[in-house]
Amino acid sequence: MRIALPLFAGLLLAGCAATAPQPKPVLAPAPAPVTAPAPQPVGPAPNDLLNATAWTQNAVEHDLVFREIYRDAQEKLLKALKNKHWDALPHNERTGPVAKLKPAVILDIDETVLDNSPYEARLIQSGKAYNEATWGAWVKEAKAKALPGALAFTKFADKHGVRVFYISNRAQDLDQATLENLRKAGFPVHGKNAFLGLGTFVKGCEQIGSQKTCRRQLIGEHYRVLMQFGDQVGDFMTVLNNTTEGRRKAMAPYAAWIGERWYVFPNPMYGSWEPAMFGNDWEQPANVRRKAKIDALHADN
Ligand SMILES: [Mg+2]
Repeated sequence: MRIALPLFAGLLLAGCAATAPQPKPVLAPAPAPVTAPAPQPVGPAPNDLLNATAWTQNAVEHDLVFREIYRDAQEKLLKALKNKHWDALPHNERTGPVAKLKPAVILDIDETVLDNSPYEARLIQSGKAYNEATWGAWVKEAKAKALPGALAFTKFADKHGVRVFYISNRAQDLDQATLENLRKAGFPVHGKNAFLGLGTFVKGCEQIGSQKTCRRQLIGEHYRVLMQFGDQVGDFMTVLNNTTEGRRKAMAPYAAWIGERWYVFPNPMYGSWEPAMFGNDWEQPANVRRKAKIDALHADN
């Protein structure tokens, strides 16, 4: 009997193939993942001013707060006008009787009647910090817009015979540009004394730093101040101890005047509230100032 060898060999080989352990597949090493290049940051570098400026320029809430404050003041102005003893100068700055004085209101300018947030936006976009040169250049453009409600209020006051004064800590060389901007924006500006900048000389009163005391007193000599408006505590009174606690203490005696005689606007972009957290020392490196602000946060009540 002949078994055809090729068939036999084929069966044998087939049997062997069925029972022999399968060689382990040799896996090729996985290719190294291809890492995509890190995305390039879009726009300017991170900047602590961003949220505050974005809110100021884009949040409708910002505009509504300004409108409600100015509208509230407008509704109370005539009542204040009728009351001959109504006065909004801080206690230590008012020396004599007010009943026979002409009525006036005092407003700060920056972030109270004029919106300088475009300047802050430029700082963010250029990655630069505030300095007098770039600030002065912005002011000289004289194109800051009126903040919501400010025009309506000042025009209302003016129409009712209430003199409108603007006290600002803008430097003296910016006086003309400031007046031009106020007029261009439509604010009532009567007489050369309507605007009292940092360079205002007040006889018999020592000007200390950027304190507004002397200028308020100058107005107070001839006017009964019905209301004051500002975005800084120093717009209303002089704070001698610029710490977070010192600022609160200074304002405490005037709590009842807020929303009656004194009208305060929010300014999260800048203000003396900020250096109060780092000992008012701007000479410290930026990272040291920043750490002091982080340390001032309250994670617990
Ligand atoms: Mg201001």
